[in-house]
Amino acid sequence: MIPRMRAVIVAGNWKMHTTPADAGELAATIARRTNEPDVVRVLCPPYVCLAAVRDALATEPAGRDVAVGAQDVHHEVAGAYTGEVSAPMLRGLATWTIVGHSERRRDAGETDALVNQKIQRALEAELRVILCVGEQLEDREAGRAGTVVRDQVLGSLGGHQSGSWLTIAYEPVWAIGTGRTARGVDAAEMAGVIRRTLGELGFAAGGEDIPVLYGGSVTGGSIDEFMAEPAIDGALVGGASLKPDEMAAIVDRAGLTAAARAAAATA
Ligand code: PEP
Repeated sequence: MIPRMRAVIVAGNWKMHTTPADAGELAATIARRTNEPDVVRVLCPPYVCLAAVRDALATEPAGRDVAVGAQDVHHEVAGAYTGEVSAPMLRGLATWTIVGHSERRRDAGETDALVNQKIQRALEAELRVILCVGEQLEDREAGRAGTVVRDQVLGSLGGHQSGSWLTIAYEPVWAIGTGRTARGVDAAEMAGVIRRTLGELGFAAGGEDIPVLYGGSVTGGSIDEFMAEPAIDGALVGGASLKPDEMAAIVDRAGLTAAARAAAATA
């Protein structure tokens, strides 16, 4: 039984792919191919493509329910930060943002404390947040995966106790862009760690109402393993989110789960 019917969400992280010239067409195609009302769909293109994606979705009938997200926000509102983009700048362009992606933790040295500040800025700008957490391979092999993820959740979300704005993506770093996926059962166990940690922070209902996604090389061929786990509420998709066929398959499978959960909730 899924408490209080958490949303089923499929979010696409386009990373550093697409240009303003082609992003709108890709977004409209994905919108048409994933027209599944029971699944919350979010597309996160590069900053420079946000306007093109927003406009293409607004003019595509199947695109009106597809949300636009950024891939990051800066931890300050404004200032001498060359090349950066702050949360208030996204107003009118995006309604969601990814925060704490492992590629930013790796490449930009982002810490949980910094991610915590970014989340605060995102909330002030009324953005919905997808917080990414996940362990390195050596952490998993050493049996530390749960501890690492718990620490990330505590550090990133300390100071918060409620979160209608919050979605958490469990993304084991060793599964991102590698073609390797976690096992569904392991992802579900980590979703349990995440929700227990939200409970420790004082989140209402022990975090049971916060959607937890799995991310890491998800495709149309692997999504079922994760959607079969009641603790998992969808996927954050990287590479496959640039492929309309893959997105169509992923959202289609997620839609079956959403419908089954809705039927179980009303039975
Ligand atoms: C991601 O970018 O969050 C991700 C999970 O990437 P991929 O699906 O390519 O592993």
